[in-house]
Amino acid sequence: MDARSPSQRRRREMAAVTSGAGRCRLSKVGAGRRPPPARVRVAVRLRPFVDGTAGADDTPCVRGLDSCSLEIANWRNHQETLKYQFDAFYGERSSQQDVYTGSVQPILRHLLEGQNASVLAYGPTGAGKTHTMLGSPEQPGVIPRALMDLLQLTREEGAEGRPWALSVTMSYLEIYQEKVLDLLDPASGDLVIREDCRGNILIPGLTHKPITSFADFERHFLPASRNRTVGATRLNQRSSRSHAVLLVKVDQRERLAPFRQREGKLYLIDLAGSEDNRRTGNKGLRLKESGAINTSLFVLGKVVDALHQGLPRVPYRDSKLTRLLQDSLGGSAHSILIANIAPERCFYLDTLSALNFAARSKEVINRPFTNESLQLHVLAPVKLSQKELGPSEAKKARGPEEEKTGNPESPAAPASASQKFSLLQKLSSMDPAMLERLLSLDRLLGSQGTQGTPLLSTPRRERMVLMKTVEEKDLEIQRLKMKQKELEAKELAQEAVDPTERENCSPTMLLPLARRRVTVAKPLKKAVVIPLQLIQEQAASPNPDIHILKKNRKRKLEHVDASGPQEKAEDCWELQLSSGLLAHGRQKILQLLNEGSARDLQSLQRIGQKTAQLIVGCRELHGPFSQVEDLKRVKVLSGKQLESFLKANILGFAAASQCCGPS
Ligand code: ADP
Ligand code: MG
Repeated sequence: MDARSPSQRRRREMAAVTSGAGRCRLSKVGAGRRPPPARVRVAVRLRPFVDGTAGADDTPCVRGLDSCSLEIANWRNHQETLKYQFDAFYGERSSQQDVYTGSVQPILRHLLEGQNASVLAYGPTGAGKTHTMLGSPEQPGVIPRALMDLLQLTREEGAEGRPWALSVTMSYLEIYQEKVLDLLDPASGDLVIREDCRGNILIPGLTHKPITSFADFERHFLPASRNRTVGATRLNQRSSRSHAVLLVKVDQRERLAPFRQREGKLYLIDLAGSEDNRRTGNKGLRLKESGAINTSLFVLGKVVDALHQGLPRVPYRDSKLTRLLQDSLGGSAHSILIANIAPERCFYLDTLSALNFAARSKEVINRPFTNESLQLHVLAPVKLSQKELGPSEAKKARGPEEEKTGNPESPAAPASASQKFSLLQKLSSMDPAMLERLLSLDRLLGSQGTQGTPLLSTPRRERMVLMKTVEEKDLEIQRLKMKQKELEAKELAQEAVDPTERENCSPTMLLPLARRRVTVAKPLKKAVVIPLQLIQEQAASPNPDIHILKKNRKRKLEHVDASGPQEKAEDCWELQLSSGLLAHGRQKILQLLNEGSARDLQSLQRIGQKTAQLIVGCRELHGPFSQVEDLKRVKVLSGKQLESFLKANILGFAAASQCCGPS
């Protein structure tokens, strides 16, 4: 016998559950990495026969086989039973404590790691959902037990001297006929469900009550539950026709640098009865309610099916319930579904359908992640730059996504949240070193497994990165353009000597060469600047400084037969530039080498960004170049490169001056 008090025992159990993982250890999930999957855990709880439900000779239609499996009669074949296996099965004799410690307590630790968790009680009306979730003063259910443990844990973990300060808030709402009603403030009417830019589901205007003890919790929860119970009496079992959602948020703030913040949300949900309302013969209001209940639960079934089958569209938005559960089912939460079933034969079809739903839910995969961010004062230097902005500019720069949501849940939070976001507007004008440090901090946190800071992991940061990429791409495009020019020039030169072209064209047809627009800075590869020995014929040129020369070149042809090599005379066309043009070109290049910026230098043929920077560096180091050949001396260009560089550029200048007239 364990002589310890129940609360002591519970604390020990919690400690055992949480110790292995280490409470403050960051989970190995980060902004850059895909979080590890966590399957939705499914437990089935079979309630005992209760007074008034069983007939005298009623025998159960379902029974447990072991701690994970059960069987139910097969209505199609009475000789057979249908078997189901789940993560846990709790039989008629199971206690509230068994269900809680076996299935719910293990996921609570994730809240203190800044992750979300949810517990859903599913099943037909009368199968024990409310008993499981709420229970009674004698047999408290999941909700009081979880709250007690969570508050105890946060008190211990958030005590003075511990690294994190913790606070807990609670909200309580019901979804009734597709309306979201705040049970802590029933006058507030239907509330809307929103999603922020990080995919978190929010309910703007929902009451959040801070709680520090279980007494605090009861003070808010009991009257709110009565709101629901009063309704139930008035509206005839309203409580079983609405979904009751208790939201408990655990906020953590690191006491020392880097002052991280974490938020974990726990949803404890008592769903409306899943019975098939077509069989109940409902009319009027009851029928309308049934329709609404069926919509929500029907969509819940569709959502589970879509997730189960991996469909690209999951219809979360088709009902309020599924929209609210968006980050719990197939989302960021550790989820547990407790399917409640009843043993009576009159429940048979609803039990079967609940078991089938539970079996499908078992296949749903969630990807929980740590919800962590940095506090504002870590980035104080950035704040200064924020001050430079006027309010209208600040609003503009905040962008639509922040205006849309901006954490409207609590009135105190939006100010800091929007301040945080608005810091980003000045990232572009921020000191690059500071920006670089912020980005590397962001990367570091990412590599440590946190979810990334909201300051930097936002669309605005993405924009900054994008702008940087665009700048790089621009440079790349410039380089490619230069390359293209060069290739065009090469092609042009090729044309000038292409034998097939030559057969059809007389040398004089090359005359327009000097006038072509494309000849601006176009090198002609075959142009030579040294006097030729085999000049036979000189073609007329409109530019007296450029002469088109025809020369004979002998080429050896190897034959495969034994006749031996033969020599074949070939005509070859080359351009000769006048000494005046050469001197002028050299002068121009030299001037550019000594006075041009790196960008100017890149306008020269064969000079890319790196070479241009090298030339500027040499100039600064050794002083001005006295002649173009110095490029060879300082090893910027090799002898061969220098030759082609001169040819290409001098011809380019000549062509440009021809095209644009004398300068
Ligand atoms: P639901 O919320 O699914 O409509 P309830 O929780 O109201 O069902 O349960 C219906 C009745 O069955 C209640 O009187 C409840 O006390 C009783 N009950 C449910 N589950 C159990 C259980 N495991 N042990 C004892 N009584 C139970
Ligand atoms: Mg109920």
